[in-house]
Amino acid sequence: MMADGAPAPLAAGLATDILERTVRRFPNRPAIDFLGRRWTYGELGRLVDRAARGFQRLGVAKGSRVGLCLPNTPYSVICAYAVLKAGGTVVNFNPLYAEPEMRAQIADAGCRIMVLLDLPDHCRKVTPLLGRGLDHVVICPLARVLPRLKGLAYALIKGRASVRPRGPGQVAFAELIGGTEPPRPVAVAPADLAVLQYTGGTTGIPKAAMLTHANITLQIGQLMRWMPPTEPGTERMLGQLPLFHVFAMTVVMHHGIAMGAELILLPRFDIEMLMRTIARTRPTCVPGVPTLYTAISNAAEARKADLSSIRICLSGGAPLPAEVKARFERLTGCTLVEGYGLSEASPVVAINPPNSSAKPGSVGLPIADTAVEIHSLDDPSRVLPAGEDGEVWVRGPQVMSGYWNRPDETAKVLVDGMLRTGDVGHLDADGFLFLVDRVKDMIITSGFKVYPRNVEEALFRHPAVAEAAVIGVADEYRGQVPKAFVKLRPGASATEEEIKSFLGHELARYEVPERVEFRDALPMTAVGKVARKDLAAEEAARGRAQSGKAA
Ligand code: AMP
Repeated sequence: MMADGAPAPLAAGLATDILERTVRRFPNRPAIDFLGRRWTYGELGRLVDRAARGFQRLGVAKGSRVGLCLPNTPYSVICAYAVLKAGGTVVNFNPLYAEPEMRAQIADAGCRIMVLLDLPDHCRKVTPLLGRGLDHVVICPLARVLPRLKGLAYALIKGRASVRPRGPGQVAFAELIGGTEPPRPVAVAPADLAVLQYTGGTTGIPKAAMLTHANITLQIGQLMRWMPPTEPGTERMLGQLPLFHVFAMTVVMHHGIAMGAELILLPRFDIEMLMRTIARTRPTCVPGVPTLYTAISNAAEARKADLSSIRICLSGGAPLPAEVKARFERLTGCTLVEGYGLSEASPVVAINPPNSSAKPGSVGLPIADTAVEIHSLDDPSRVLPAGEDGEVWVRGPQVMSGYWNRPDETAKVLVDGMLRTGDVGHLDADGFLFLVDRVKDMIITSGFKVYPRNVEEALFRHPAVAEAAVIGVADEYRGQVPKAFVKLRPGASATEEEIKSFLGHELARYEVPERVEFRDALPMTAVGKVARKDLAAEEAARGRAQSGKAA
């Protein structure tokens, strides 16, 4: 705070400063817990320096793009900061991508170096590209970051299958950090590119949002302003969300490190491992998506787990149903705060106040230095008044500088210094943002607009429904009609007719899905959102197969 009580202006810096400041301040405090093995900030800082020098030896210079294809492990944090310190740009990869997606993203980003775990499934998709675009792959042994006994057991059971670096271009992590000389200083400025964050995972063609050092550091400043009071160096941050996704990269990693928190990293979603980790480490901050809070609540209720250490929770990425929020709050005693963001905005745009003045159903107020406007869907130059639904436009220092190598796509979304988010919503008279849905997911049926989220929320009110997703499917007469996919609660039953008749009382006639399909599970994205895009692709394939048969 400044002397007059007004918050100090946010200053752009380098993403590497975030870690360096905490290393200087808290060298002996724990930085990372990985399944019981811990590293202090001092140790993390030294590993980052050595890896940065190692990347420089491999040719990383200002602007080089380096792919990180890692589940959450200490390597994710070490290598992200090391690439930045070497002057490079981090390109985040989802290790579960299929081979063609991996190849396409490597080529699009122009990565010449990729960092991977020594898991055969991961290496198989990437090492064949050595000499065909890639110069080096850095292979990180999982056993080496596990606690001693777990590491030995892992090496005994899985050791033979793990990939050992051999052949040209394959570099062991130990070799990367083998030198002792400090990294060469690189002239990086806040306006330089720090991260290529691929997006469009749930809709549209994947493209990379260009996030600069300034975007990231100013976003961290914005989150620090929002945070409830906390003692630096004392929080424990649960890192269940994948760090290759923008939400966790910013909120878990950079923000956690800026607070001097201990990052509790989990390599994959396994409810047993998660609940054991919560019991062992007693996290205080749990950023998540709604499906994570539901999973924790279900498990905690079943085994009467103690969640009382949890204090600060930020839900984002997908709408947070009121019942999910209320149940998690009952079990923890904390306030589960909903926010909204997207890859193109580093990602956070709006968050509810961290205290009781949150508005139910709202994703909150724009964060510091951020302006939100609602523009007419029919005439985008028109700004709509409070209460009217339109497209959400955002201005703020966290907004990307554009899409990598896609000036045409950039021109569509960056207009007059604002980001067109593609989300539909409205502001209320107090400036709180309420989201309706994505423009791209809107269904037009006989000329009427149907927002899938509206229909999904009505489905959630049915007592037998556990998960639901609604998409538009082609219809000869009405153009499109809504179709619902439903997963029922364990032990519950319902028929298609019952669900439709229930919805008939909740929705307009044209909003009621034409068909309801029951599934044992709904497809999820890496971060835990229901993947409407996968359902739409299945429907399209089914439609093509049927018209093929008819022809
Ligand atoms: P991504 O770029 O993968 O992080 O996806 C961003 C998208 O997630 C946004 O454009 C929204 O459509 C959606 N989203 C994020 N937060 C929320 C929220 N709290 N409620 C509803 N949708 C959200």
